[in-house]
Formats: sequence, structure tokens, C-alpha cells
Amino acid sequence: MNPEEVRHEVGAWLAGNWDPDRRLADWRHRLLDSGWAAPTWPEEWFGKGLPAWADGVVAAELAAAGAVGAAVGSGMTLAAPTLLAHGSDELKRRLLPPTVTGEQTWCQLFSEPTNGSDLAGLITRAELDGDEWVVNGQKLWSTSAHHADHGMLLARTDPSAPKHRGITYFVLPMHQPGVEVRPLHQMNGHSSFNEVFLTDARVPVANAVGAPGDGWAAAMTTLSHERGFATMRRPQFDRAAGRTVSEAAAEAEEYFATYAWYPQRAGRPDLVADLARGRGPSERQSAAALHALARANEWTARRAAAARAAGRPPGAEGSLGKLAASRVARAAAQVHGQLAGAGGTLVGPDSPLGGVVAEILVSVPAQSIAGGTDEIQHNIIGERVLGLPREPPVTG
Ligand SMILES: Cc1cc2nc3c(=O)[nH]c(=O)nc-3n(C[C@H](O)[C@H](O)[C@H](O)COP(=O)(O)OP(=O)(O)OC[C@H]3O[C@@H](n4cnc5c(N)ncnc54)[C@H](O)[C@@H]3O)c2cc1C
Repeated sequence: MNPEEVRHEVGAWLAGNWDPDRRLADWRHRLLDSGWAAPTWPEEWFGKGLPAWADGVVAAELAAAGAVGAAVGSGMTLAAPTLLAHGSDELKRRLLPPTVTGEQTWCQLFSEPTNGSDLAGLITRAELDGDEWVVNGQKLWSTSAHHADHGMLLARTDPSAPKHRGITYFVLPMHQPGVEVRPLHQMNGHSSFNEVFLTDARVPVANAVGAPGDGWAAAMTTLSHERGFATMRRPQFDRAAGRTVSEAAAEAEEYFATYAWYPQRAGRPDLVADLARGRGPSERQSAAALHALARANEWTARRAAAARAAGRPPGAEGSLGKLAASRVARAAAQVHGQLAGAGGTLVGPDSPLGGVVAEILVSVPAQSIAGGTDEIQHNIIGERVLGLPREPPVTG
């Protein structure tokens, strides 16, 4: 099918099926059965087997009809692609439908107190006990773990194997006595991530994603989809448009509360032009330089998105995009500081932009850390894009 045919077919299906007064879960089950909830997934796994461009075409048709799509969040963007690539048929059958409908949600349990950048060095361990794995260890910075049903968990199952080979990828049921989630309080006042303590937590053998010891490959699949997650947009809903829409709006409100500070983390370069109007030449010069940097990065991001939509593998622009986003965020924080002066550190309704400037100043550092730090990104660009010699391993 070409884009025009897809548009026509989705439009016709929506005309006969979209019902704004159904329960959200009922509607999404219907959407799932049609294959239009995830058109790029294989036909035997709830999709239409279409190329990457189909996601945008179908999303536009849903939006034009005022219809609600699949659930948003790390379930659709990270867990589902990993299950499709590495999961057993039983896992896909059991977990993909509630992920699409939003009836079950996910978090990512990769980072540990001593192993973030060096993820392959992780020390949380899982030992086989009959038909269950027993997990002990600690995870950290686990976004949304406080309301997730499943965790994408990496644990060491073979301590004697080389570090990349002794890791297994599990789907951890979060609601059990062995899983304790403690929210962290961030310096920007939000609590979006958590510490997760695993004490004799149980995982059925059937919940291993891929073979035991092969978890690194599945982990790389999850990480390769993190950029899509980072750029996820909050869908806009008109609450008055029927029960389905109103339930989806409530779901989005709850979900995106965790991410309320993410725009500030990106530095809010969009706010700078208005603030700089009528200011002195030095401030306007800084604002113009920031604008140029942000626009250039936006075009790079669009080139990366176009390459993805055309089904091409991520190229240099994808690797450079994350690093450039950190640079834009830092530059924007600097300009906001310059424009607001010392008052920029104040919070409350009388402070610059009602406290948004202060939130930008304390949130921007996270941009250079989340999803792999700037230094790690430099290593990736050096080794994989420029073909420089590998970083010497740390020993001792
Ligand atoms: C907003 C946010 C959300 C997050 N959400 C999640 C989540 O949901 N799930 C999850 O599992 N994790 C999550 N993380 C964790 C994130 O993946 C880690 O913080 C990140 O990978 C860095 O690891 P670390 O914090 O242990 O830092 P470290 O690895 O300890 O790094 C410390 C410093 O050393 C530098 N460094 C380390 N190794 C090298 C090297 N080889 N070469 C040069 N410099 C190096 C780093 O760049 C950094 O400056 C989140 C983080 C943030 C900020």
C-alpha cells in the first residue's frame, strides 16, 4: 500500500468504527483488532506490516477524525519493539495487547547506583529456582516505576560469563512483595524517578525476553528506541468530545504529570525571542545565537526523522542530535539566566515566568545525562561515526 491507499483505508475504517462514546479500553481493543493501532508491526502481531512512514499517516488520520490512538508511554515506544524483536510468541500474545490498550504500563529498570554508563557491569542478579527466577539488587533513576505494572529488567544470570554475555532481560511483575519502589525528590521539586529495591523478587521463567544470557542484544534494542521516547509529544484532547476522548485525556494527564518538567529540561529556547525583545544588544545577540543553534538542530532532527520514516538505519545525524540537544539546552539556560538576572533563581508567581526560569536552570543538567551522557555520546560518535580507535578499557 502507498500512503494515499493507507489514508483511504484508515479513513474508511474510522468512518465505520470510531465511536467517541465507548469505554477507552473497548475502543482500543477494537483498534488493536483492526491492525491500525500499530500499523508498522507485523500482521501476525496486531499490525499491518507497513513501512515506518505509515505511523505518521495513520496518526494524522486518527487526529483528523478526532479519534484516540494506542496508549502513549514507554510500553509502546520501548517495551513493544523489544518484545517484537526478541520476545517469545507467548510473551507477545500476552503482553502486546494490554500495552496497546494502556491497561498495563511499563518502566525501564536498567541503571544501578554503580552502573549507569557502564551498563554491562550491572550487578543485580537473578538465580533460577524451579520455574521462577529470584532477583536481588537495586535499580536507580527508574522513571515512572511508581505506577508501572511491568519492569524491563536487566539482571546478571551468569556471573562467570564475560560481562556482556551473562545478562538476561526479564519482564518483572512490579506488583509483588519483593519489589519496593521509593520515589526520589529532585532539586526541581518533581519526583519523576525512583529507587527500586529487589529482594527475592520473583519472575516466571516464561518472562525472559530472549534466551538467558542473551539480554544484551534485547537491551540494545530498547536503547535504540529511546530517542523516540524522548521526543514523545503529549496528545491534545478535547475533553467534551465523548467518553473515549475524556478517558484518554485523563490518562494523558496522569501520565504526563511525571514529565511536566521535560520541556524545561530542554531549556525552552522557544521562550527566549519574546523575552529578548526591547533588551540591549548583548542580550539580543545571545538570543539570536541561541535561535540559530536551536533551528540548526531542529533541521538535523528532521533529517533523522525523515531517514527513519524512509526506513533507513539511524545515521550520523541521529547520534549528533542528542548531543546537540544538550548543547541547545545549556545555551538556552545561559540566555535565560542573562535575561532574568539574579531573579531567575526565584520561584513562585512573582518570579520570572512564574518560576519557569528557575525550573529551567535546575532541570537542564538532566538533558546531558538521561538516555546516555554527553561523554558517552562523544565516545559513540568517535568510535561508530568517525571510526576512531575504541576507548581503552578500564582495568584494575
Ligand atoms: C531524567 C532521567 C531519567 C532517567 N530514566 C531512567 C529510567 O527510566 N531507567 C533507567 O534505567 N535509567 C534512567 N536514567 C538513568 C540514566 O540512564 C543514567 O543516569 C545515565 O546512563 C548515566 O549513568 P550514571 O548516572 O550512573 O552516571 P555515571 O555512569 O556514573 O557517570 C558519571 C560521569 O562520568 C562520565 N563517564 C562515565 N563513563 C565514562 C566513559 N567511559 N568515558 C567518559 N566519561 C564517562 C559520565 O559522562 C558522567 O559525567 C535516567 C536519568 C535521567 C537524568
